[in-house]
Amino acid sequence: MVVGDTERFEISQPPELFARVDEEADALIRESVITTTLDNALNWARKNSIWPMSFGLACCAIEMMAMMASRYDISRFGAEVMRGSPRQSDLMIIAGRVSNKMAPVIRRLYRQMPEPKWVISMGACATSTGVFSNYALVPVNQVIPIDVYVPGCPPRPEQLIYSIMLLQQKIQAERGTVRKTLNLA
Ligand code: SF4
Repeated sequence: MVVGDTERFEISQPPELFARVDEEADALIRESVITTTLDNALNWARKNSIWPMSFGLACCAIEMMAMMASRYDISRFGAEVMRGSPRQSDLMIIAGRVSNKMAPVIRRLYRQMPEPKWVISMGACATSTGVFSNYALVPVNQVIPIDVYVPGCPPRPEQLIYSIMLLQQKIQAERGTVRKTLNLA
């Protein structure tokens, strides 16, 4: 700033530093406005606000709890709101083996979840009854449809996080979201 007869402002830095602000006024608009489809916007909102149901079936649930806690912090992916009721949940994580006795219960809980809903099969037991040949267990895909399988015994929390990232990709790639939401499908 030079103070004299007439006050005037002088740029003290190289002019190109301010070029974007001073000369490219429309740059702000270009960077602030995006165009997309309603399907994409809905999918984006859904994939970043997954509400998992809070229940576990066996030892895999300990790793699931670790994923929720501060060290792994699933809230970075918008999925930290664990719900105690299937009617408020859109993700079921099958964390542990499914026994014959639990299978009908799991199916009932699944049917109580509102659409859209997704299921992750976590660990060898849930997916294939595990390393043990056990007459009391049933693979979970014979009970309800599964979206993502996580291998391991038990899978590490990072693996479960990765499965949620895969699920997010699946949700984002969904087509006809608006039609289904409005019951036009
Ligand atoms: S996969 Fe391993 S950790 Fe998970 S429920 Fe089965 S025995 Fe337990």
